[in-house]
Amino acid sequence: MYTRAAQMIKLSKRCVAFTGAGISVESGIPPFRGKNGLWNKYDPQIFDIQYFYTHTHHSWEVIRDIFYDLFGKVTPNAAHYALAELEARKMLSAVITQNVDNLHYDAGSIVVHEFHGSLKNLVCLDCRSKYKISEIDLNVLPPRCEKCNGILKPDVIFFGEAIPEPAQTDSFNEAKKADCFILIGTTGMVAPANMIPPKAKSNGAQLIEINPYPSEYTDSVTDIFLEETATRAMEKLMEEIDNL
Ligand code: ZN
Repeated sequence: MYTRAAQMIKLSKRCVAFTGAGISVESGIPPFRGKNGLWNKYDPQIFDIQYFYTHTHHSWEVIRDIFYDLFGKVTPNAAHYALAELEARKMLSAVITQNVDNLHYDAGSIVVHEFHGSLKNLVCLDCRSKYKISEIDLNVLPPRCEKCNGILKPDVIFFGEAIPEPAQTDSFNEAKKADCFILIGTTGMVAPANMIPPKAKSNGAQLIEINPYPSEYTDSVTDIFLEETATRAMEKLMEEIDNL
C-alpha cells in the first residue's frame, strides 16, 4: 500500500494535499468534534458571527483562551514537515488546509490555501483593515483597529460567514488540476470543504487517504487507504519515496 502510494506521488504531475484537524492533533491541538473535542468543552455559539457581534467581549475571552493561549504554543509535527519536504522536492504543488493554526507555514510549506482563514491575521469589522496577531495586544479585549477604532476579529471563518476568497476559488481550482490528491486527517464532515476531494476525484485525480480510522471518503472516493495517524503514515511514505 505504501509503495503504491509512494509511486503514485512520485509519478504524478500535480499532487495536492488536503488536510484537516487530524494532522494537527499530534501537535497538541484538540479537534473540534468528537469525544475530546473542543465543542464538548466550549459552546460553539462563541464562534457564531451573530453572537460575536452581540457578545464581543465574552466571545473574545474564550477565543483568546483557545486560539491564542493554547494554539499559540504548538509547533508543527513530522506530517507537516513531510509535506513541506515534498513541496521542496517538487513532488507536491500545494496544500489546501481546513486548519487555522498556521502550522503548514510554520513547517516551511509555501503554497498553502487556508480554506477557513488563519488565526495569524485579524480583520477590522468596520474598515476591513488587516493586522498580524504579533502587532496586537490581547491584554485589552476586544482588540481595536488603529485606523477607525472598529472591533478586530480573528480572520477565520465563524459560523454564519462565507468561505474567504481567494482561498475558496483557489482550493477548488487545485482540486480540478490535481492528478494525485492526498487527504490527511480529515473525515469529510464539514461542508463545503468536504466537496473538494470528490471534485478532485471527478476530475480524474487518484486519491490517497490517511486517517487512523475509515471516514466518509474511504468507500466513496479513496483509491489507497493508509489507516494510520498522520505522522506515522507520512514517515512511512517518505521512506518509501526515498527507496523508489
Ligand atoms: Zn478599522
